[in-house]
Amino acid sequence: MDFLPVFLNLKGRPCAVIGGGEVAVRKVSLLLEAGAQVAVYAPVLCETLGRWVKEGKVRHVSQEFRPEVLDGCVLAIAATDDTGVNRQVSEAAKARNIPVNVVDQPDLCTFIMPSIIDRSPVVVAVSTGGASPVLARLIRARLETLIPAGYGRLATLVSSFRDKVKQRFTHPPRRRQFWEEVLQGHIPELIYSGQEEAAHQALQQKIDAADGARAPVGEVYLVGGGPGDPDLLTFRALRLMQQADVVVYDRLVSPAVLDLVRRDAERIYAGKERDNHALPQEDINQLLVRLAREGKRVVRLKGGDPFIFGRGGEEIETLAAEGIPFQVVPGITAAAGCASYAGIPLTHRDYAQSVVFVTGHLQDGTVNLNWKALAQPDQTIVFYMGLHGVESICRELIKHGLPADMPAALVQQGTTRNQRVLTGDLRSLPKIVEQAKVKPPTLIIVGEVIKLHEKLSWFHPTPATGDR
Ligand code: SAH
Repeated sequence: MDFLPVFLNLKGRPCAVIGGGEVAVRKVSLLLEAGAQVAVYAPVLCETLGRWVKEGKVRHVSQEFRPEVLDGCVLAIAATDDTGVNRQVSEAAKARNIPVNVVDQPDLCTFIMPSIIDRSPVVVAVSTGGASPVLARLIRARLETLIPAGYGRLATLVSSFRDKVKQRFTHPPRRRQFWEEVLQGHIPELIYSGQEEAAHQALQQKIDAADGARAPVGEVYLVGGGPGDPDLLTFRALRLMQQADVVVYDRLVSPAVLDLVRRDAERIYAGKERDNHALPQEDINQLLVRLAREGKRVVRLKGGDPFIFGRGGEEIETLAAEGIPFQVVPGITAAAGCASYAGIPLTHRDYAQSVVFVTGHLQDGTVNLNWKALAQPDQTIVFYMGLHGVESICRELIKHGLPADMPAALVQQGTTRNQRVLTGDLRSLPKIVEQAKVKPPTLIIVGEVIKLHEKLSWFHPTPATGDR
């Protein structure tokens, strides 16, 4: 982040605005809305500012800017069209450690003014770090349409009941659950439609009816996080991730997806099999049970789909046996994600009428698979966890009847900005893995459909450098 977003309390605090034109008007108006005590420094004032001075809203000092006028101020804004003066203001403010904003000159600012959506007391601020004010305004316009005008009144209602609810529900997770039920129920609609008294009564009744002492009931959501690109999450996955008290995640879950979990949720890394620091499966199963018994909403977040090579079945078997409520949210499995983003249709009228997903995970150095069934014509084979066994996979497929020049592809970190797609055939694939230093997670796709890749490839991201 280039700037730290904060909300300042300026009530009754002295702020200086240098400049008396229309640009200054906008800044002064925001400062006044925040209750600041505003002094405007300018030789002459525009009509609006002149009126505000007469009305006693702002103080006017009609002199050239001098650094000392900033003494005692908590904030300074330069809004003149004289770059020399703007620079002077910036330097004087910095010398006094006063936050300063110079309109349209980001290099002179120590803070920038965001685009805002005002539903006071709810305020949403949008910043692009000065990169593009137009983009910030477009985002703002979208948010304006998403946030009902009544949000402010809703927040005021909630605020007036906060203490009562706190007394009634002493257990914090239970309290949060209560508020979530209220805010996702019919009470907000009452507010939006102007029935404030009814909303007030409904909320009071809900508090009276609730059993505040009851221990909260936990639940586990087994969520498929998809192959990496956060845009591929389902709406349900996102909603549950936003409600989680705790998230237990695997290494395969991309940082961009993990970022979408509720910020305050506790994060527990469970690793996965090939990882030395991984929790054994039995421990993960027990951990989920324990967390749910503590009344928490647990998101068990897995890469791809939880029921495809994800051991999701085992985890919920334990939950079912222990009587813990759970839900399963499907995700886009690596085969579907990687195939789409690599432009390799898994089936195609001319090349493949069936597709199989297999695990290439080695057991005791060998891959125990039904090779005969795999090495069929007109079939696409997708190997998960096949990288370590790539050599024996290719060898066995050839041995069981597939031609050595059968096309094959490797998709590394599919759907992410680091996606790599390498193509060859069954003979060349092991060498490609070695020479191109292919790393997990990588999917191996075998079949005639690979021939379409060159024509249909569409996703060409710039690799992420340095970021996660
Ligand atoms: N449940 C997951 C699969 C877990 S098995 C799913 O449905 O996708 C782990 C294997 O999935 C990895 O070894 C790799 O072969 C594959 N995989 C997962 N994400 C991938 C990605 N983004 N790119 C390539 N392969 C991936």
